[in-house]
Amino acid sequence: VDSGTGDETIVVIPGDGIGQEVVPAAVDVLEALDLGFEFASYEAGDHVAEERGTPLPAETRAAVEAAEATLFGAAGETAADVILPLRSAVDSFVNVRPARAYPGVDAVRPETDLVFLRENTEGVYAGLEHRLSDQVATGTRLTTRAASERLAEFACSYLADVETDSFTVVHKANVMGETDGLFREAVFDVATDRGVEPDEVLMDAFATRVCLDPTQFDVVVCPNLAGDVLSDLAAGLVGGLGLLPSANLGPERGLFEPVHGTAPDIAGEGVANPSATILSAAMLLEFLGYDAEARAVRGAVESVLESGPRTPDLGGDATTDDVTGAIVERFDVE
Ligand code: ATP
Ligand code: MG
Repeated sequence: VDSGTGDETIVVIPGDGIGQEVVPAAVDVLEALDLGFEFASYEAGDHVAEERGTPLPAETRAAVEAAEATLFGAAGETAADVILPLRSAVDSFVNVRPARAYPGVDAVRPETDLVFLRENTEGVYAGLEHRLSDQVATGTRLTTRAASERLAEFACSYLADVETDSFTVVHKANVMGETDGLFREAVFDVATDRGVEPDEVLMDAFATRVCLDPTQFDVVVCPNLAGDVLSDLAAGLVGGLGLLPSANLGPERGLFEPVHGTAPDIAGEGVANPSATILSAAMLLEFLGYDAEARAVRGAVESVLESGPRTPDLGGDATTDDVTGAIVERFDVE
């Protein structure tokens, strides 16, 4: 069944804060599967910037460019200088962010089951900002037809994986007629060619509607900033940031990371919830072709979320290690 070859090298970058705790937890889970992966650890983030004068050493970037899959934790103050170059190192054009509620976890909307497909290279993240004076700053939004079409092609193919026949395009083309207008037009052009008929919702209306009834939505395709904000909103609906994984996918490589950041308020205490990062590792397994193992990891995470042990963010008093150990004990690979 597996198309994975068992000799893959996984680049591992814990980064800062709880990245140092949750990434080793996810590596423990991958190691327990005994697939024969090599793990190669590299540094990035605030702690490296202090020592080396750059938060992203050249060897870290080169390793990510050479590997099929990278598992990343989080970076603190230097986040933009780490994660944006790393996403481009894998030529990532889409950030896949599933937001699901789990039995046993207190959620505002326990019926939530969404996937955001976020454009991952442009919009306001293009870095085209200028401080004109101490009173005035401007920014330029970038939209290209190529990036929008690449995202839409991915979205159309993704529908088959999740057994759904349509997606929702979220944008604000009524105000940003040129940038989001081009995004919208390109996505609809590709969808029409592929025989898909997407719905569309303005991003402000989407924010209200997803809170009131998330079951209206399934696969959500959005520009970069909207995807960032709305997927964090969805994290709130399902019970917190400690649960949301993500995959930055390129044509040949992927970089997998939790949606959360460094959580400085709990870093170093050994109580971070490893679920988001372990679920990111499950996305990594799926990307490499280990579908059965990905399902087993997800099933074990779900089982532990339902019956415990739980970390303090979910109302429990277990440590990161307790939860990781319980997940490893509950694998059931078919
Ligand atoms: P950063 O600037 O790195 O994003 P932040 O202060 O915004 O840092 P986040 O990591 O985004 O922190 O987390 C926001 C809140 O959610 C914090 O209170 C944090 O403790 C909590 N949180 C995030 N991830 C986890 C996790 N894996 N386990 C437990 N709590 C978490
Ligand atoms: Mg944050």
